[in-house]
Amino acid sequence: MKLFVTGGAGYVGSHCVRELCNAGHTVVVYDNLINGGHKEAVDTRAELVVGDLADDTLLERTLASGAFDAVLHYAALLDVNESVHEPLKYYQNNIANTVSLLALMRKNDIKKMVFSSTCATYGVPLSVPITEDMPQHPINPYGRTKLAIEWALRDSADAWGLGSTALRYFNASGAASDGTLGEDRDPEYHLIPLVLQVALGQREQIKIFGVDYPTPDGSCVRDYIHVEDLGSVHRMAIESQEEAVFRYYNVGTGVGVSVKELIVAAREISGKDILASPDVRREGDPPELYADPTKAMTELGWQPKYTDIRKTIETAWHWHSTHPNGYASV
Ligand code: UDP
Repeated sequence: MKLFVTGGAGYVGSHCVRELCNAGHTVVVYDNLINGGHKEAVDTRAELVVGDLADDTLLERTLASGAFDAVLHYAALLDVNESVHEPLKYYQNNIANTVSLLALMRKNDIKKMVFSSTCATYGVPLSVPITEDMPQHPINPYGRTKLAIEWALRDSADAWGLGSTALRYFNASGAASDGTLGEDRDPEYHLIPLVLQVALGQREQIKIFGVDYPTPDGSCVRDYIHVEDLGSVHRMAIESQEEAVFRYYNVGTGVGVSVKELIVAAREISGKDILASPDVRREGDPPELYADPTKAMTELGWQPKYTDIRKTIETAWHWHSTHPNGYASV
């Protein structure tokens, strides 16, 4: 297939682009190289167009000239905490820019899309593991912007024949198994890279945001899904996508890991002390989120390879310890 990939230079996007190129697809990456995008992360077999989704002229020119079969849409802002304080930035980037993209897809008769959604659309779930039929009541602006796009995709299926899949990611984690791609964001705000920065001596300590949650050890529980497993599920979704349907899947391992457990695992793998201290809760954080990924496994035939947090952290540690300054280390 000929694929247009927004955000393909970012953390999740770059691992997916590699998977798509390995499968023989022709890939054009569209990325503004801000917010975690790096040109070094783009597979050499893919074409990179440096551009912003807000640049309608360049976006239209690129889409119109490409004869694309489908779009994979990763480009978005994803800092939950920032979204609470700067909601309009999130509504502009994640909703307005995506609606422009959809309008241009319609104009250019591109009727297949895979969309990076999030478990944050569920808010505080009624129970865990989370299944797709549970109500979506996001508790922060980030989750609300992603849910709004799910609605736009659902409405577009009937109205103009768009076929799309919303992949509701849990916590994207880890790095390429060969150590050549990984997480590189400035400022960093995700737990695993921050913990490993402490192990590398780049940060003094890790703060545990909340130790009084109603969870077994009081810290938040999350489902850390490896980026290469995200790569395979995106490939399977786009290859099986039909027009005029809207599908949605939880993409997680099915295993919940607490912040405290993760820090213990990182100490074992890195062999470093990793100073950690309890801190106040972070706004907008649900206590416990982990997936029931059965639907994606059954309907797409997907199987995550990484279900042990230690194996995931090992790949992240390989990346961070060999690239202490991210892609700038190369
Ligand atoms: N977290 C933490 N300390 C940090 C960063 C994150 O305790 O310095 C916690 C955060 O409250 C959440 C979990 O780690 O419960 C994962 O956070 P992250 O930002 O990586 O992903 P999110 O779940 O927000 O998408």
